Amino acid sequence: MTEIAANVQAVLENIRDTATQAGHDPNAVRLVAATKYVKADHVLQAIHAGVTICGENRLQEAQEKMRDLGAQPGVTWHFIGRLQRRKLKSIVGRFALIHSVESLEQIEEIDRRAEDLNMQQPILLQVNVGNEATKGGFSPSDLLEVLPNVSKFRHVTVRGVMGIPPREEDPEAVRPHFQNLKQLAEEIKALKLSGVHMTELSMGMSNDYTIAIQEGATLVRVGTALFGERQQQ
Ligand SMILES: *Cc1c(COP(=O)(O)O)cnc(C)c1O
Repeated sequence: MTEIAANVQAVLENIRDTATQAGHDPNAVRLVAATKYVKADHVLQAIHAGVTICGENRLQEAQEKMRDLGAQPGVTWHFIGRLQRRKLKSIVGRFALIHSVESLEQIEEIDRRAEDLNMQQPILLQVNVGNEATKGGFSPSDLLEVLPNVSKFRHVTVRGVMGIPPREEDPEAVRPHFQNLKQLAEEIKALKLSGVHMTELSMGMSNDYTIAIQEGATLVRVGTALFGERQQQ
């Protein structure tokens, strides 16, 4: 077994165990393998070991890997990186879920592109949970203001929220951020807005995904724990 395959199996097992111990349905928590800077043959090893969702940060890198790997039955691609307006045209329709939508303008543009393709694009709205100047995402109050407008975009479906908390030495320090994001998701759900179906909560990375699962994550985005430390290219 390759090291990547062993890592994938260990993380999948840890996800199931953590969810079960926390009283959550283990099938409701899915692993998104964060595959930025990972070569196609390494991604393939992860797929053979049980990865079903690949999360990419950059369009060009994703397109190259999708081309290299071809159709992989049962595997979908998510977009988890910062969105650039001019790239949205090529992102919409090619990714099963976009995690990182951070403005009303992006929602409008995604809706326009999805309408051209005659489809509905599932998205998550990114929340700046740590209120950090360097990170993208809606503030919770902006999000609550924007959401009632979402129903008019008939080619976009909001499936939940995503957050990247500040880096902390002690993963326990991020728990309150996960709790806040979960609570915000519950508040939004209670509004019963049309076009908004709060089924997904994307939070947790290699350092802190078990804590995120305990606090209700349904999608954990894990890179380093699967593929090791990677060099930026
Ligand atoms: C790289 C990345 C991850 C995974 O981070 P690791 O610490 O390597 O697990 C998760 N989410 C996003 C948006 C990323 O860019």
